[in-house]
Amino acid sequence: MSIDRVILFVGPPGSGKGTLSQKCVQELDWDKISTGDLCRQHIENQTEIGKSIDFAIKSGKLVSDGIVSQMVFEWFRDNENDSRVVILDGYPRTVSQAKTLDNLAETLGDSAEIIIAKFVIDDQAIVDRLENRYICKNKECQRVYSLKASSVLAPKKDMTCDNCDTELIKRKDDNSDAILERLKVYHLHENDLLSHCQKAGYEIREFESNLPIDQLFVKFKENMGE
Ligand SMILES: [Zn+2]
Repeated sequence: MSIDRVILFVGPPGSGKGTLSQKCVQELDWDKISTGDLCRQHIENQTEIGKSIDFAIKSGKLVSDGIVSQMVFEWFRDNENDSRVVILDGYPRTVSQAKTLDNLAETLGDSAEIIIAKFVIDDQAIVDRLENRYICKNKECQRVYSLKASSVLAPKKDMTCDNCDTELIKRKDDNSDAILERLKVYHLHENDLLSHCQKAGYEIREFESNLPIDQLFVKFKENMGE
């Protein structure tokens, strides 16, 4: 395995994690995995993990921390990987997932470092962002856009993806009440999660993410020595 670095993206929904990781993939040739994508792949391939995820979703339950961690480790174990840097978007999400970071470090071997990138932005800015967020309907693409006036993330053609020409859609839960509810739950977990990571000795780097994405990308690159 040739991975030098795994960067764990931790931040509230709407803090720009997804867009930033997309840019890192496109412009720095990094690799990115998100637990949501892993879940979908397992369900599609009907693996044992996929079947338990499917069962959990159909019974209206959350996918357990154990399953999420197992998927992440298996990805690193099974993927012949040429990328120097891999971003994990949205993991760890809970203290119990964070407790398994040592196993991840073990899977990766001594030569790889684990860095936690924490994205900070105030709630009102997030509500503002998410209310204007649209995503590409194409499951293989899912590029994120903003319909906010003058945003650099605006699509070139009205309501159409620049990348694959598919229609843009709004997620049902991107409205202010639902967003504030999601943020409340998020903040509840974030403190515990980060204080656990700190105690366990993982390096945490903080990024103010209420910036246009291009500026955030420049700052992030600099900080990561790219
Ligand atoms: Zn698209």
